[in-house]
Amino acid sequence: MCGIVGYIGERQAVDVLVNGLKRLEYRGYDSAGLSIISDSNLITYKKQGKVADLETIIEGKNHRSNIGIAHTRWATHGAPSDVNAHPHRDNSGRISIVHNGIIENYGLLKKALIKRGYSFHTETDTEVLAVLIGAFYEQTKNLELSVRKALSEVVGTFGLLVLSLDEPDRIIAARRGSPMVLGIGDGEYIIASDATAIIQYTKQVIYLSDNEMAIVSKDNFATKTIDNIETNNQIHQIEFDLEELEKGGFEHFMLKEIHEQPYTIQNAYKGRLIADKGNVKLGGLRNVADKLRNAKRIIFTACGTSWHSALVGEYMLEQLAGVPVEVEYASEFRYRNPVLYPDDIVFAISQSGETADTLAAVYEAKQKGCTVLGIVNVVGSSIARETEAGIYIHAGPEIGVASTKAFTSQVMVLALVALYLGRMKNLSQLDGKRIASEIIQLPDKINQILARCEDIKQIAKKYIYAKNILYLGRGYNFPVALEGALKLKEISYIHAEGYPAAEMKHGPIALIDENMPVVFIATKDEIYHKIISNIEEVRARGGKVIAIATEGDTQIKQFANDVFYIPETLPMLTPILSVVPLQLLAYFFAKELGRPIDQPRNLAKSVTVE
Ligand code: GLU
Repeated sequence: MCGIVGYIGERQAVDVLVNGLKRLEYRGYDSAGLSIISDSNLITYKKQGKVADLETIIEGKNHRSNIGIAHTRWATHGAPSDVNAHPHRDNSGRISIVHNGIIENYGLLKKALIKRGYSFHTETDTEVLAVLIGAFYEQTKNLELSVRKALSEVVGTFGLLVLSLDEPDRIIAARRGSPMVLGIGDGEYIIASDATAIIQYTKQVIYLSDNEMAIVSKDNFATKTIDNIETNNQIHQIEFDLEELEKGGFEHFMLKEIHEQPYTIQNAYKGRLIADKGNVKLGGLRNVADKLRNAKRIIFTACGTSWHSALVGEYMLEQLAGVPVEVEYASEFRYRNPVLYPDDIVFAISQSGETADTLAAVYEAKQKGCTVLGIVNVVGSSIARETEAGIYIHAGPEIGVASTKAFTSQVMVLALVALYLGRMKNLSQLDGKRIASEIIQLPDKINQILARCEDIKQIAKKYIYAKNILYLGRGYNFPVALEGALKLKEISYIHAEGYPAAEMKHGPIALIDENMPVVFIATKDEIYHKIISNIEEVRARGGKVIAIATEGDTQIKQFANDVFYIPETLPMLTPILSVVPLQLLAYFFAKELGRPIDQPRNLAKSVTVE
């Protein structure tokens, strides 16, 4: 689930490993650890807490080592503790492993191993895999073979690195359902669950596929399937730069990423939008253009924030292209028996491209014969590779756990898809041009919002007492209400709910009193007067109203306690603007409350377990 780094080369392994773990901190974790081989000893340090806590126990030890593996854990089996932290060892104490994912049949395997006389010291599923590899090693005296044998008995997911005192010149890596990237340096290799831990040393990488393993030594590497069939991998170039992983003067990554949005949404439409023709060119969809045109139905599947952007996409595609769209939580989609037809188009949306549920939904839709497309941020990620075609959102690395720029870029890409499909169907060139000309004004308009950041901070200060907040919006702003509430929950830990504004009277209105602030996204559109009625209903019950309204709206002030104005745009593009003050509101609430904004408790950046 969380972070893995391995190193083999000339440098001091501890430095590279700790550095790599720090790059992976953004993913959220509860403990950290590493194993190195130094002077023919296998040395392990592990600690609950932050990488900085791990550093305090390593400090001053000055181990000389050129090979090691390291981990940040996000506990799934066994509480976060020093002993449950990775790496874990086999019973001989000579093999050490780090593992992301879940060994689902660990209970059965553990029982069988205990019967054979093996013992366990932790509550983790991972230790079972370590002991199993060790048990095979006793018989085979061959590390690679032992790893392959053990992995063939395992049910579940893994990103795995194995280090052994008996074969001290190699690291074995393997993956199934959990990412693993091999960085190819000059006389050195860095293996990690995420390219952010690699880029400082090299930009040349190989993305391992599911059921693939790599045997890496200082001077070379080999890749093969877990069934021992050799594989050939293309070498890719990491597309982002090291500076993109730094805070660049901002206090938090989240704030930096909020401020990057004028630039990131431009990146999403640059080279794709043909403004003077009111058209869109999507190279990634060229080969499936006919299928898209003929689709009777489009299904979006996603989780969390991506699911919210999918909801915006639903409204856009239905409006511009007149095609029925369904939006499915990937976790639900994969486990029921969805009715799918071969001419359905399924779009999987995920920032990381590794979201376990969304990936499983991709497999399910492929199995049923649908055309499956991806909208992802991370180049080379599993969803990017498992889908037939797709569109990268090009938002650059998103480090803050609470997604911000990926949301607006996903919505931007979905707007392009809607325009693309609309123009293939009945949307006129004139309408296409109008949309395109509004799109290219968005970066400027976001800048105007960001320039008034301080106003949002004051609003957050005023309502800091709140224990619960409601977010209400209609039409295109309904998904924004959901997203605003999610941001607040994630990083401030204040309870918040988003609803379609008209649903309020079917239940949530019972909650309204003077202690319940309500955020209304009340921008000018054809249902504006309806949302004003909803605001009045809240006011009549003593609720405090914070409104996000359109510049030039002189009426709203009479109804709301606080108003934040955003520039006008088309209703379908409004989410890209109206979400920005809500991202900032969540940020400033969390800051006032002293929360760890970039790494909120219990959350992981990309949810690679179910
Ligand atoms: N399932 C393993 C554990 O609980 C690995 C969790 C992770 O991916 O960090 O230790």
